[in-house]
Amino acid sequence: MKKPKFIGDYVKLSGELQHLPSRVRIFDTTLRDGEQTPGVSLTTEQKVMIARQLDKLGVDTIEAGMPIVSPGEKQAVEKIAKTGLNAEICALARCVKEDIDAALDCDVDAIHVFIATSDIHLKHKLKLTREQALEQAVRFVEYAKKHGVVVEFSAEDATRSDVEYLKKVYRATVEAGADRVNVPDTVGVITPRGMYHLVRQIKEVIDVPVSVHCHNDLGLAVANSLAGVEAGAEQVHVTVNGLGERAGNAALEEVVMGLRIFYGLKPKVRTELLVETSDLVERLTGVTVSPNKAIVGDNAFAHESGIHVHGVLEFPGTYEPLSPELVGHHRRVVLGKHAGARSVRSQLEEMGIRPTSKQLKLITQKVKELGDKGKKVTDADLRAIAEHVIGALPPEQKTVELKEITVTTGSTITPTASVRLSIKGEERVGSATGVGPVDAAIGAIRNVMKEISGLRLKEYHLDAITGGSDALAEVTVKLEDERGNLYIAKGVREDVVIASVEAMINGINRYFARRK
Ligand code: MN
Repeated sequence: MKKPKFIGDYVKLSGELQHLPSRVRIFDTTLRDGEQTPGVSLTTEQKVMIARQLDKLGVDTIEAGMPIVSPGEKQAVEKIAKTGLNAEICALARCVKEDIDAALDCDVDAIHVFIATSDIHLKHKLKLTREQALEQAVRFVEYAKKHGVVVEFSAEDATRSDVEYLKKVYRATVEAGADRVNVPDTVGVITPRGMYHLVRQIKEVIDVPVSVHCHNDLGLAVANSLAGVEAGAEQVHVTVNGLGERAGNAALEEVVMGLRIFYGLKPKVRTELLVETSDLVERLTGVTVSPNKAIVGDNAFAHESGIHVHGVLEFPGTYEPLSPELVGHHRRVVLGKHAGARSVRSQLEEMGIRPTSKQLKLITQKVKELGDKGKKVTDADLRAIAEHVIGALPPEQKTVELKEITVTTGSTITPTASVRLSIKGEERVGSATGVGPVDAAIGAIRNVMKEISGLRLKEYHLDAITGGSDALAEVTVKLEDERGNLYIAKGVREDVVIASVEAMINGINRYFARRK
């Protein structure tokens, strides 16, 4: 054995990766299992948008839905199948004739058929004996296969099934024509070591590609998926942002980067589109990605501690295991109580402010004081502190100014807003309706300003500063441009709508200032 340089090399050099496949297929089920996330429901148009993005990203298979579920679902699967994408388009079906017929109607490339094999599912859900389930699985794999589609067979709840019986089912379905078999950890109850051994045993009795489908109930979906690959699995089921039933599925972005970083396996996915894909799915499903989410979270490449920022500014590899550009992210330095002079200076320089070292020391001290009070130090705060220390700074360029806003709302009318803006001295008027007055007002600004079509409202947050109905409302918006730059801006007014508009316009001005 070669001598390992780092602890991590022990695995690579131990010979325990002898079963690693040379290539791993990425089977994306964002539109099927991901859409089964509680509270998520997508329209056909939204599903097609996501499918196009997944295709651009380069996944091998897109599981578009389960056509038997509803006419809308069927229509969406059909539309995706007819969009002419490069990816294999797959539909899910139970081992039931109507399900498979509905999938065939959609003209998909592949059908993913499944039946449960665990005693707990057989007894309480299907009311079938093991023999009946086996017979049904074989019959419907044969039926689907007869229609010339690729067939992937799943033994639902595989990880809680009797292993000998499970192997028998997989062997029989492969003999019946299944092109791939999938091993679902339906309720997320296996460990990486368990998954490794299960996949090994299955691979010993069949010769078609094996896939794994892991759930995150105990936070192990990605680890279990990678363990499956270590045991030789040639395909992984994933969802963007780890969406999926209950605690979700293995996250696409984490599995793809894990395969690359740990094993040097490069699925045919354009990793630089991972953040863009995550953002689209976040926006369309309404499921917010937590800031500390691996790979795609807002903080995945953000640094606050002074020591860390110092290291990263010298050499990113000190505190970044992979470079943000590789996944389409960007590095961000956040100021707070851990801030060091270096990070404060780098933030100020971005604003075009160059303090002397004495001034820098004072500014840093004040940033830390704010941080100690538990406050987030925004760009606006930093600018105000710098102004206080250095003296008057050149006025912030204001490209856009609000001249007038009128909003009508009520329980019986559609909220409508009209705005008059001055943009570089030119006046523009426009209006919009919305689900509420704030939505209408922001819509009106967007309608007047085509220049901000690439700018999206990533977060909207409302705080009441004082109690009572006359409280000051503080609105914070987080805007994001096409290149992933974030603009955080605030508006403070007694009127929630005007505070929102003010925050929006402050953010837009910041965006224009940066573009210059
Ligand atoms: Mn699932």
